[in-house]
Amino acid sequence: MSDSKTYPIKQFSTHTPHIDEEKYLRMYQQSVQEPEKFWSRMAHEFIDWFEPWKTVKNVDYKTASIKWFEGGKLNVSYNCIDRHLKDKADHTAIIWEGDEPDQQRYISYQELHDEVCKMANALKSRGVKKGDRVCIYMPMIPEVGFAMLACARIGAIHSVVFGGFSPEALKSRILDSDCRVVITADAGVRGGKTVPLKANTDKALQHCPDVHSVFVVKHRLADIDWHAERDIDYNELKKEMESECPVETMDAEDPLFILYTSGSTGKPKGVLHTSGGYLLHVAMTHKYIFDYHDGDIYWCTADAGWITGHSYIFYGPLANGATTLVFEGVPSYPTPSRFWQVVDKHKVNIFYTAPTAIRALMAVGDDAVKSTSRKSLRLLGSVGEPINVEAWEWYYKVVGDERCPIVDTWWQTETGGILISPLPGATPLKPGSATRPFFGVQPAILDQDGNELDGKASGYLVMKDSWPGQMRSVYGDHDRFFQTYFSQYSGYYFTGDGANRDEDGYYWITGRVDDVLNVSGHRMGTAEVENALDLHPLVAESAVVGYPHDIKGQGIYAFVIFKNGVEFNDEIKQQLIDIITEEIGPIAKPDKIQWAPDLPKTRSGKIMRRILRKIAENQVDSIGDTSTLADPSVVQHLIDNRLH
Ligand code: ATP
Ligand code: MG
Repeated sequence: MSDSKTYPIKQFSTHTPHIDEEKYLRMYQQSVQEPEKFWSRMAHEFIDWFEPWKTVKNVDYKTASIKWFEGGKLNVSYNCIDRHLKDKADHTAIIWEGDEPDQQRYISYQELHDEVCKMANALKSRGVKKGDRVCIYMPMIPEVGFAMLACARIGAIHSVVFGGFSPEALKSRILDSDCRVVITADAGVRGGKTVPLKANTDKALQHCPDVHSVFVVKHRLADIDWHAERDIDYNELKKEMESECPVETMDAEDPLFILYTSGSTGKPKGVLHTSGGYLLHVAMTHKYIFDYHDGDIYWCTADAGWITGHSYIFYGPLANGATTLVFEGVPSYPTPSRFWQVVDKHKVNIFYTAPTAIRALMAVGDDAVKSTSRKSLRLLGSVGEPINVEAWEWYYKVVGDERCPIVDTWWQTETGGILISPLPGATPLKPGSATRPFFGVQPAILDQDGNELDGKASGYLVMKDSWPGQMRSVYGDHDRFFQTYFSQYSGYYFTGDGANRDEDGYYWITGRVDDVLNVSGHRMGTAEVENALDLHPLVAESAVVGYPHDIKGQGIYAFVIFKNGVEFNDEIKQQLIDIITEEIGPIAKPDKIQWAPDLPKTRSGKIMRRILRKIAENQVDSIGDTSTLADPSVVQHLIDNRLH
């Protein structure tokens, strides 16, 4: 890590970056030494307030009480739309690129305003009020953004559920936050394959008796069932709606949305974000980290169902009056040149994607990239997991032609926006490092016992103080919020990630401390997959671990114990795969399923996952100490029968 290559700061030929090295250091100092003054200045600069706040910051990590800009009044939809109408009504707010290369829409800020107002009025016509929760289960079409902003406009709290999730996953999220209205589409399409969103919704709602209204956006003209008492053809309803809707005045601390994490312990957490601090954080990071300038075409390839889609497709860019690209498809369809063709077609300047996509495209070869121009690109971004050096170099050299800095952005659903990242005009780059903290962010590295380590160090990544975009609670379960993030090390926010810090103060994220799978950028807890496997009537117990997979980042390896005497066969294997598809979605299908007579457990009955991981990784020579196992002999059987 210390002898890794450093890439010096690049000069852009087109303009001077917002922040240079000297300015970064100066602003960073101020942000941590005089946080109230710093954030107050930023909040005035980035956001239009109806009324000023009373206190900038009121945070107590001992009780997990986090408040920013209390008493300040604003509306997020106003900040993302209305205030831009004065001089940007005709500017493109959203470029939509469909699954097929000949499909596109351009939505101006005026059109965005009208669409959002109609959707907001439609929600009001079904009785939705400030504080009500609305579930959004949509494909990647502009309407997903309209729906989010419509909720924000009237003070409703949205909960976007990723369109790739199964009816079961949708159901549990609807019930957990008691959503009474669902906004969906007849169907979606990704890479030429239909996603039956309405049919999935119908299935989920069999168990959600309180949902009284389902808005259906007709996108694919798919054949769907219709429940007249509940379903609303949104395309029809829209015709009757006014294109003006006054904005609700919200407190900075009023909730903006709930977003469920992948849930490493089984039940996903409903991460709650509020209005003022969140918007400030995403607007500011979008401007400085992506070095966004007026007129830039900006593209983040995430799905709206993840936090990256919330913060860096919609809220951050729109707060800054940017043009943001919404892509319905996948990188490999119809050909592996698609990303770069879209870049050329829309003259994209800033491009933000995930390492899993980069690795998949890298595996296809350079020709698919080199056959395109990519001249418009100025900056590349990465998010979601550590980017390996090989992928970083390829992204830099082949995609960016050694012209574009890469911002490797580290953050979490919980953090609302980016916390650790290079700034293109201020930070020399080291491939594989997320580099230095953003303004106001104070990371620290702790050892096992909670001691803060100085200088070059390796340990648990925590934050010493709050930043405006930090989550405020787990919806409906504040104690879980405290327990999950603030109980391990008193006075710190615990990220759950491990990190190294080098002699230059750069951070290198080593991955999560607990067990979460990351399959092609889709995260899920091992416990969630195990819970599904365990539903099979013949399964006694299961344990799931990830193993390195060239394309997917991680593959899923499942160890399954059957109830007495049952023999593993292809029929049962298929049933297990079907259960997982049903419960979680096709993305969670195990790549390998090994039958096990028993699992390596500690005396207290906990499965020793590090052993299973070694077996799944085929590194059986480094299994290490097995002396604390209740029955060490089970390990040999697993080794002898491993699947490779
Ligand atoms: P859950 O909290 O339910 O387990 P999750 O942590 O998988 O879900 P996210 O909030 O989307 O869901 O992901 C945040 C995590 O992704 C970080 O904690 C980190 O492990 C990883 N991550 C994100 N960006 C980077 C990055 N640039 N470098 C390294 N790791 C990253
Ligand atoms: Mg997490």
